[in-house]
Amino acid sequence: MAKPLIVCRDLSIIYNQGKSNEFKALSGVNTDIFEGEYIILFGPSGCGKSTLMYAIQGSLPPGEGTLLVKGDDVYSYPPAERVYFQRHVMGIIFQQFNLIMSLSVLDNVALPMIFCDRDKATRNRRAQSLLDRFGVGHVSHKIPAMLSGGQQQRVSVSRSMVNDPKILLADEPTGNLDSVSTQQVMDKIDEINTFDRRTIIMVSHNAAHLSYAHRVYYLKDGLIVREVVNPQRKQIKPVKEGETIVTELEQLARLFPYDSIETLRVKSLVNYLTQDYTFDQLIRLEKATSLFIQGKVDRKAFIKALVLSYERGGVEIPEKEARRIASVSEKMIKNADDIRRYRARKDNSGIFFSQHKLAERLKEHLLQVYRIKLSKEQNENMTELIADRVTGVTGDEEMNERLMKGIRSGGLALSEKEADDLTRYFEKVIAQGVDVSYKS
Ligand code: ADP
Repeated sequence: MAKPLIVCRDLSIIYNQGKSNEFKALSGVNTDIFEGEYIILFGPSGCGKSTLMYAIQGSLPPGEGTLLVKGDDVYSYPPAERVYFQRHVMGIIFQQFNLIMSLSVLDNVALPMIFCDRDKATRNRRAQSLLDRFGVGHVSHKIPAMLSGGQQQRVSVSRSMVNDPKILLADEPTGNLDSVSTQQVMDKIDEINTFDRRTIIMVSHNAAHLSYAHRVYYLKDGLIVREVVNPQRKQIKPVKEGETIVTELEQLARLFPYDSIETLRVKSLVNYLTQDYTFDQLIRLEKATSLFIQGKVDRKAFIKALVLSYERGGVEIPEKEARRIASVSEKMIKNADDIRRYRARKDNSGIFFSQHKLAERLKEHLLQVYRIKLSKEQNENMTELIADRVTGVTGDEEMNERLMKGIRSGGLALSEKEADDLTRYFEKVIAQGVDVSYKS
């Protein structure tokens, strides 16, 4: 059986050992990482991910336990050999790029080769070919400050590969990038793993990245609390029979990375009790709905994707249900657009969109969906209520209460069930129509 490339046994890393501010950042960590694996160290800020990565990189000696790379204790190397190891066995990419601002892009990439016995022209040729490969060859003569963040990170990917390392370490490499650049950098790192067959160890707290990895080590408070195998990637680490059963929990762990195993078990059970669809179906349904909402696919294509068999990439739901989903989504999107326009104070033709007009339109829609007939007073109260909710004067619970309240006191006198259904539906429409900016 192949031996692991990196082995941690009962590894603890202690900062400021022996001092009053001594701090154990990692405790009793065990890992076996095999050549060619893509490993993500995942967890909330401060859990010890970077500490583990820099310990593997040869910069943080174990306080307790052992750490072996290719069977060697790198911390027992004489200093010159350790530097050679760090330069030639490991490549590294940082969140902040760490490029030298006064050097050209080409010189930044060629620099780590300076201690090799290659001449300058050869070094420059290799640097340029890596820059070309990672899509930044055309800016090699510029200084880093003239490049976008995404380009700078692709320069540092080129630099990390210049000495042809066996292992690539990446410390939150997309933490400072927009979504397009993130995708480009993640694709390049993936290519280094799948095409160049290099071992990748990436520190991340972005759950969207987990699907790239063969395995994910989840860390919390300096401990590895869970190891999750990605069933979508063919495993390199030998799996002993009976040792790992890939279950729904692994999939759920990727969807809800910060939940405990107990919570995931509960989620699995509650999904079974309350939903007709599996998590896999729900993920596909979400993807298709997202494309539909954004107008990237039309109604026909949306329904087709919903009805298509699971094996052929569809969601596999009955056609009648698919049609219902399409029509409810369509109506909701239309109403949500009204809310959006109203909040921007403009209608289609750029004319002021009055609160009354909006409320009237939403009311017509709600009454149609719920087939409720209202008297004149109820109608007026409903318009007012909708306007209050959309402008935020009334919250969802108050709306629910007002729907049940007597007509004379401004309510609609609906039954509890009618009020609940209507409130729930209306909250969904509002959620689609109101933009929220989340602070991270
Ligand atoms: P993560 O990468 O998961 O955000 P780190 O590995 O950077 O976490 O840090 C783990 C813990 O170790 C944190 O509580 C952090 O404050 C502490 N720590 C990190 N570096 C040092 C240091 N040089 N000296 C003392 N404590 C440190």
